[in-house]
Amino acid sequence: MKRIVIIGGGFAGLWSAVGAARKLHELQIPEDEVEIMVINRDAYLGLRPRYYEKDPHNYRIPLSQVLEPVGVCLLEGEVKQIDTVSQKVTVRQQGKQTSVAYDRLVFAAGSQLVLPNLSGLHEHAFSVDTYQDAIKLDQHIQKLPELPDVSGKYTAAVVGGGFTGIEAAAEMTSRLTEIAKQ
Ligand SMILES: Cc1cc2nc3c(=O)[nH]c(=O)nc-3n(C[C@H](O)[C@H](O)[C@H](O)COP(=O)(O)OP(=O)(O)OC[C@H]3O[C@@H](n4cnc5c(N)ncnc54)[C@H](O)[C@@H]3O)c2cc1C
Repeated sequence: MKRIVIIGGGFAGLWSAVGAARKLHELQIPEDEVEIMVINRDAYLGLRPRYYEKDPHNYRIPLSQVLEPVGVCLLEGEVKQIDTVSQKVTVRQQGKQTSVAYDRLVFAAGSQLVLPNLSGLHEHAFSVDTYQDAIKLDQHIQKLPELPDVSGKYTAAVVGGGFTGIEAAAEMTSRLTEIAKQ
């Protein structure tokens, strides 16, 4: 059996997997001839563009809900190494290393926020890069009413005026107004 391995279960990885499944179907290639496997750090598709919104858990979708119906398998784990000579990837799953052979490989591991080395940034700033970051920000906003009343308690400073910064700033306006009213 041949295997297409896709590293990353974000928009790009998911689209690749679904696209490959559709193509195999169109070509009438039986499922037992080619396996499509998505390897992702966790079991979810994260809708990163919405992570600045309230209740970020609404913006994570179980990958299996989309992959299973089209016959794509999911391996939950972190890819640690790609060996293009032997055509194998090394995956770490709960402390154990597994080797997965591939015939075709799609690398769709996405992007990651790089925090500049600015004093205070790591200790005091929030981001919406990952689900965990989004949860941290959400919990902080939910707990604001319990904090002492100091000036600026319901003020957010957004650093960066690109699309992410502008969208996040617009969302913070309504989120902070809502929580302050409570
Ligand atoms: C606030 C915000 C607003 C945005 N707004 C828009 C918008 O309006 N329109 C738009 O087009 N884009 C927008 N984006 C960008 C959009 O989120 C990204 O372009 C999109 O998520 C990229 O998808 P991806 O599949 O390439 O990567 P990702 O979504 O980053 O997915 C990569 C996946 O690979 C996994 N992974 C990475 N490394 C490994 C590894 N070694 N082993 C196993 N798994 C691994 C990750 O855990 C992740 O699940 C926005 C982003 C943010 C943060």
